[in-house]
Amino acid sequence: MASGFFSRLLRRGRDRPMTCHEAAAVLQQYLDGEIDNATAARVASHLDVCRDCGIEAETYERIKSTLATRRADLPDDSVARLRDFAASLQSGSAPS
Ligand SMILES: [Zn+2]
Repeated sequence: MASGFFSRLLRRGRDRPMTCHEAAAVLQQYLDGEIDNATAARVASHLDVCRDCGIEAETYERIKSTLATRRADLPDDSVARLRDFAASLQSGSAPS
């Protein structure tokens, strides 16, 4: 049975270590949790061994958290509306 051997051979390509170029190409999606688990695992193991890419990932995370903090700066109006909506759900006026 040769098929088992060939599928094993093909699968091995996906398990090889990522290059910096490949890691950089998917780094943002990885940090945003937008890639499949297999690719995420490969990026994670690359970041474990590669200092350059680890610093790159850290920098991106820092930028992202800065943006997230700014985004919390919503107009009072919409915050109040959200709070009213949450209150109406809690008071049981929503259909259950
Ligand atoms: Zn790297």
